[in-house]
Amino acid sequence: MRPVIKLDWPQENGSQKSYRPHTKANNDLEENLGPYCSYCEVFSSDLEVEHVISQDQDATLAHDWNNFLLACGRCNGKCGKSNKHVDFTTIHFPHLNNTFLSFSYKEGGLITVNPALTGISRTHAENMLNLIGLDKYPGNAKYPTLNQNDSRWKHRRIAWEWAKRYLPEYEADNLTAKQIVDFATQRGFFSVWYTVFANHPPVKQLLIRSFAGTATNCFDSTNSYQPVPRNPESLADPI
Ligand SMILES: [Zn+2]
Repeated sequence: MRPVIKLDWPQENGSQKSYRPHTKANNDLEENLGPYCSYCEVFSSDLEVEHVISQDQDATLAHDWNNFLLACGRCNGKCGKSNKHVDFTTIHFPHLNNTFLSFSYKEGGLITVNPALTGISRTHAENMLNLIGLDKYPGNAKYPTLNQNDSRWKHRRIAWEWAKRYLPEYEADNLTAKQIVDFATQRGFFSVWYTVFANHPPVKQLLIRSFAGTATNCFDSTNSYQPVPRNPESLADPI
């Protein structure tokens, strides 16, 4: 899951911009975070303003910029987060943690908790996976019944297949990093591309730069853009 940096609350006439109704935040969020679902990472022209803390849980945050992310209808709706209770301190979020370290992307675009995680970090990553249901795909015993319209897994798989197709073309110098990243930004799934091009720092650098709002501090530019913990001061959960 792409880690992102939320900008400060946009200003208007010297004070915090009003987001009543909250849908008014859509353009500002897209400018900040790019046209991507904050959770499944799909590119979309139909994203919703996502309340990190749902309006059911705390109505006072319904118009609060700091409580917003962007989400597709699946991640925001019943297949995903909906109005489930959220406790920041027990879940990895893309604007608070290096969520690229929370998960692993595998062949076919499947997503699991990063097997290298242990202890509380692992639990917090699992909690995010379950909150959004990103591992919902046919055949996963964890979900005996699936909403047939939840095609998030399929879109992630298609992105994986594109990335795998482009990798040898890049390595054979038939495609440039820019050509690959231009295409990737129109499909979304930053994490899929980053994983498939793991051995190619120039592509990773351009992915970070080209996907608006990517948290640059989550990748070490002095070490091949390896992902690094975002909260190193936290002994319990540095992720
Ligand atoms: Zn989504």
